[in-house]
Amino acid sequence: MTEAFPGKHNTPRFWNEITPDCVEANLPPTAWRHEATVNKQIQVYAQLHLLQLLMDSLPVCISYVDQNRCYQYANTTYQTWFGLKPEEIYGQPIDAVIGTEAYQKAKASVDRALAGEHVVYEAVMPYAAGHRYVQGTLVPDYNVEGQVQGYFALIQDLSDRKAAELALQRKAEREHTLWHITQKIRQTLDLQSILATATKEVQRYLGVDRTLIFQFTSDHAGDIIQSTTQPTCPIAPDARQWQAEGLRQRCHQHYGQGTVRAIPDLGVEVDDFCINPWIEEMAAKSAIVVPILQPQPRGASNLWGLLIIQTCTTHRQWEPGEAELLEQVADQLAIAVQQADLLAQVQSQAQQLRATNRALEQANQRLNDLSHRDALTQIANRRYFDIVLQREWKQMGRSHLPLSLIMFDVDYFKQFNDRHGHPAGDDCLVAVAQTSRQVINRATDVLARYGGEEFAVILPQTDLAGAANLAEAIRTSIRNLNMVNFETTTDTVHVTVSLGVACRIPNRNTSLQTLIAAADEALYRAKQAGRNQTVCGE
Ligand code: GH3
Ligand code: MG
Ligand code: MG
Repeated sequence: MTEAFPGKHNTPRFWNEITPDCVEANLPPTAWRHEATVNKQIQVYAQLHLLQLLMDSLPVCISYVDQNRCYQYANTTYQTWFGLKPEEIYGQPIDAVIGTEAYQKAKASVDRALAGEHVVYEAVMPYAAGHRYVQGTLVPDYNVEGQVQGYFALIQDLSDRKAAELALQRKAEREHTLWHITQKIRQTLDLQSILATATKEVQRYLGVDRTLIFQFTSDHAGDIIQSTTQPTCPIAPDARQWQAEGLRQRCHQHYGQGTVRAIPDLGVEVDDFCINPWIEEMAAKSAIVVPILQPQPRGASNLWGLLIIQTCTTHRQWEPGEAELLEQVADQLAIAVQQADLLAQVQSQAQQLRATNRALEQANQRLNDLSHRDALTQIANRRYFDIVLQREWKQMGRSHLPLSLIMFDVDYFKQFNDRHGHPAGDDCLVAVAQTSRQVINRATDVLARYGGEEFAVILPQTDLAGAANLAEAIRTSIRNLNMVNFETTTDTVHVTVSLGVACRIPNRNTSLQTLIAAADEALYRAKQAGRNQTVCGE
C-alpha cells in the first residue's frame, strides 16, 4: 500500500511505499494480517532509524520549527553546536535555544519562512559560544489546508571557509602592499620618497596608529627619519634625536640577528627592549619592531635602523602575517638604503672625476698653449704656424678666398748681436714681435716666429694689396722704434726688417709650398734690393 501525504511545493516527505511480502508467507488470514502489520511496523521503524542516523551524521544543523517558533526537531549536530540535550530544545522557543542576540539577527528570515517564503541567508551569528559565519536555508512546511505550519531549517557553518577566504584576501593585500613598495624602490633612487611610500603603505595595510622609521646616526643616537601618525595618537613622535648610552649595541643584542618583536602590551614587556622607554614616551600601547639590516662582507650585518609600528588607543594581539609583512618591507628598505649609499658613492666619485677632468683639461690647455708659443717672444711658434697655415689653406680653398703670407727678417741682425751682445739681441727680437703684433688687428691673423730673426704673418681672406699694406705698416712701425743697430763712420743704421708678401686662392693646381716659396722669394728680393722694404711676389 502507499501512504500519500499531500505536500505543497517541494515539502520533503520521507514515507515510502510499504508492501509486505505476505503471500509467500503462506499463513492463515488473521495471523497473516497480524504478521503483515508487525512486518510493516518493523520496516517503518527500520527506515525511520536509518533516517535518524542520516540526519544525525550529517555535519549540518537540521531542525524543524513550528508556527509558534518552537523547536520540534533538532539533529545531533544541532544539539552539539549549542551544547543542549534534546529535551532542552524540543518545545523551546528559538531565542531560548540560539540566544536572544542571534534570534534578533535571524528573526527577519524566520518571519519570511513562516510567511511561506523559501529563505537562504548568510550572516555572522552571535551565538553564546562565539561568532560563527553561517549559511541558513529555511523551507516552509505546509499542512493539508496549504497553510504554513512550520519550517525546516538547514544551517551550515561556513566560518572556516570564510576564514580561509579572508586569509587569502589578506595575503593578496599583503603581496600588493609589498609589490607597491618594491615597485617604488625600483622606480626611484630617492631614499626619502621610498621611505615615505613604505610608511604610508604599511600604515594603510595594517591599520595602525603610527609607523616610524628610525635610523641610527651613531652608536648612541638616532633619528626618526620618516613617520606617519594618526590623530588617535595623543603624543606626537619626538623627532629630535633619541640618545642613550650604547644604544646601538643594546639594540644590536635584540635586533642585530634579525629578530622581530611583536609586543601586544608595552606596559608589561619592558626589560629587554632597547628603545622601549622611548616608545613609551609616545604613549604607545602595542608595537612591532623590525630591524633594518645592511648586509656586510663576511656574512655580518649592520643594524642601520628600525621599522616600528604602534597602536596608541588599544592593545593589539599581532598576527604572524603582520610581522612577516614588516620583515619583508624592512628587507626592501635595506635594499633601498644600499642603493642610496651606492648612488651617493657613485655621485661623489663622478664629482671627483669631473673635477679631475677639468684640471686635466686646463693642464692640457696650458700645455697646448705652451707647445704652440715661442718661449722668447711669446708669439706663436713655428709648429703652430705650420698647423694654422695648413688649416687656413684648406679653409680658404673650400671658400675660394685669398690667403696671404708675409715673411719678414731683421736686417743685419748678426751685426746687432755683435754690437750689442746676444741678450740685447733677444730683447730686440721681443720688441720686433710685440710691435708687429700691435699692427695686426684681425683675430684670424696669426703672427709667428718662423725661426731665428725671421717672422711670418698668416692673413686669411686677405688679398695681395691688403697684405702689402700690412707689411708696410709692420716695416714702418719697426723702423719707428728707432733702435740703433750699428753705426758707420757716416751713418747710424737702425733696426729694420725686410718683408716678402705672397698671396694665393688655394685650388687643385697650387700647393701651399708655392705660397711659402713665393713669400720667401719676395723676401729674398727685398734683401737684394737693399733691405728695409716690402716686395710682393707675383
Ligand atoms: P740679413 O740682413 O741678410 O738678414 O743679415 P743677418 O745678419 O740678419 O742674417 P744672418 O743670417 O747672417 O744672421 C742672423 C743672425 O741672427 C745670426 C744669429 O746669431 C742671430 N739670431 C738668430 N736667432 C737669434 C736669437 O734668438 N737671439 C739672438 N740674439 N740672435 C739670434
Ligand atoms: Mg736677418
Ligand atoms: Mg735670417
